[in-house]
Amino acid sequence: MLGLMQHWPLLCHKIIDHAARQHGRREIVSRSVEGPIVRTTYGEARARALRVAQRLAADGYRRGDRIATLAWNTARHLETWYGIMGMGGVYHTLNPRLFPEQIAWIMNHAEDRCLFVDLTFLPIVEKIASSVPSLGRVIVLTDGAHLPATALANVVAYEDWLAGADGDFDWVSLDENEACGMCYTSGTTGDPKGVVYSHRSNVLHAMMAAQPDAMGVNSRDVILPVVPMFHANAWGLAQTAPLIGAKLVMPGGRMDGESIYELLDTEKVSFTAAVPTVWLMLLQHLEETGKKLPHLKRVVIGGSACPRAMTEKFEKNYGVEVVHAWGMTEMSPLGSLGSLKPEYAGLEGDARLDIKEKQGHPPFGVEMRITDDDGNELPWDGKTFGRLKVRGPAVASSYYGGAGADQFDADGWFDTGDVAHIDQNGYMQITDRAKDVIKSGGEWISSIELENLAIGHPDVAEAAVIGVAHPKWDERPLLIVVRKPGRTVTREALIDYMAGKCAKWWLPDDVAFVDEIPHTATGKIQKITLREQFKDYRLPTA
Ligand code: AMP
Repeated sequence: MLGLMQHWPLLCHKIIDHAARQHGRREIVSRSVEGPIVRTTYGEARARALRVAQRLAADGYRRGDRIATLAWNTARHLETWYGIMGMGGVYHTLNPRLFPEQIAWIMNHAEDRCLFVDLTFLPIVEKIASSVPSLGRVIVLTDGAHLPATALANVVAYEDWLAGADGDFDWVSLDENEACGMCYTSGTTGDPKGVVYSHRSNVLHAMMAAQPDAMGVNSRDVILPVVPMFHANAWGLAQTAPLIGAKLVMPGGRMDGESIYELLDTEKVSFTAAVPTVWLMLLQHLEETGKKLPHLKRVVIGGSACPRAMTEKFEKNYGVEVVHAWGMTEMSPLGSLGSLKPEYAGLEGDARLDIKEKQGHPPFGVEMRITDDDGNELPWDGKTFGRLKVRGPAVASSYYGGAGADQFDADGWFDTGDVAHIDQNGYMQITDRAKDVIKSGGEWISSIELENLAIGHPDVAEAAVIGVAHPKWDERPLLIVVRKPGRTVTREALIDYMAGKCAKWWLPDDVAFVDEIPHTATGKIQKITLREQFKDYRLPTA
């Protein structure tokens, strides 16, 4: 017997329709690339998205076409997403922090036909356009007055281009399983891989993200997504905020402490999200100026591990709740969030920080398991760690073009490449990337746990741990450290500091001091480069 309920396809443009109808006057505030703060509303954003869709269709772009964006978080960028999706196109976010050749590679792989680009990134496009034969129009997200002279063919200012459409357009009727968005993984190993979101997965993800124990946002919130739309969908906030009708504050290209503080303060932001690096800059600014955060209630921190000291500062010094989150481009991207279940709600001090250091528990819509290398499921005891696997309606089922097929198993589990343990209450903690785990005498050592310990030393600015070849143990940990300016901490002092805080056999065999640790385009430590740099390193114990 079948249910007798309506078929109402889950389509992304229904989100902006709902926002315009129910929350039409709610503001979207952007720090524009040209400089000034610009104010618009969900009502206006929908009207302009319809014009984007109409104009794209008039230019000959069709259902399924990949339309790239290379842009900061602004209302214009948001309108282009909804316009692209509403004409049946596929928005494809490009990460401007990649090398131009990598961007060209990705554009060619996706066969992007059109590009919306911010003024900031026009020089990148000038460099690569001739090597992307599929590329047609380049639409610069500005008005005619700000459009600079360029040798690029087929360039137009967004506002001039948009003037050619009156918005008399019906969203294209689509199947909810059709593609609506695309984002490539950062490709720390091998070529980047394309993740293709569907209308259905994006809508379900936005509903998942809004759950009280996930992002827990509502129409009374003011949301500042510092995490870029080109980094894993701004963690879903470009869809979640309009879905629940919250005021949106878009930071444009300025993410330094002072600029972020200004928006938090003047717009009375209650909820924000970004990687730890952004929060380091903000906390430093607050410490230097003695400013406080009276409006901010919650900050989601993820993308890489949130240091314990950061959680402590936000919660103790500023009264802001930290929610540590984990996810991946392949998961749209939310996987787990660290809100406190009743089992942990009353904890204080170190016991609370111990739980906040974990990456949290999955919302409804994400299933998790940990397995050994042979695929046997491991217990949830908060100690035993293994390969972290996930499945759900907003988790990739394969990569574009069939790359990386070995990460997807027959039962529908996706191997995240992360290594983790899960406790009795379902809280997951990442202990490593599978390829970064240090295998010493057949046992695993968590490089992330050692890094977290080292970073707790007051003289350490940044730390990375890699496995280095050892004749007896196969691999042993080497700690690589950037000291804070003017500090002189020694190898012995650091190892002494870590002793007693982890198993004795985990302690690094040596410490190397460097001026800089290399990072990827999404701000993660580039271990592949470090391993290359230290491949001939001889440990004193070898
Ligand atoms: P991306 O697809 O660029 O967001 O990268 C996803 C990867 O970032 C994950 O597989 C993890 O290795 C890492 N990651 C994300 N969030 C966290 C976190 N909170 N703690 C540790 N690693 C994280």
